[in-house]
Amino acid sequence: MLAPEIALRGHHVLCLQQFKGLGYSPEFVANLAELISRLRGQPDAAVRLADSADAICAACPHLVDGSCQDDGTDAERRRGEQDRLALGMLGLRPGDVVSWREIIARLRSMGNAAAQQAVCGECRWLRGGHCQINSGDRRCTP
Ligand code: SF4
Repeated sequence: MLAPEIALRGHHVLCLQQFKGLGYSPEFVANLAELISRLRGQPDAAVRLADSADAICAACPHLVDGSCQDDGTDAERRRGEQDRLALGMLGLRPGDVVSWREIIARLRSMGNAAAQQAVCGECRWLRGGHCQINSGDRRCTP
């Protein structure tokens, strides 16, 4: 039997690379750590790319009625824009299903700091010094 697909927002492909054990709640951090461990252990896992709530949002205290309400009522729309930008950068679209290994291969060949800045530029984690653009800090690789 095929393993179930893992739903992943486009911009979370970038977040996953720089996770350092921080997050919005203990449950959120535990879920994220478990997902990273799963992807590392199963690089051929099927990932369904999304521009809406995903396997990471599922444990987030900011997810309300299926929608991100992190920093205001406009949050879901802005996260969706980040998702589509990130997916475009990787040559992918919402709804595509590819292996985690394929996503990482695309990420490695990306090397486009300007594009990543467009996705991550307004993010509190980047502004707070927790992430770096094109740092090569790939923690979630196969
Ligand atoms: S802040 Fe929003 S996009 Fe990020 S994990 Fe939480 S619900 Fe999802």
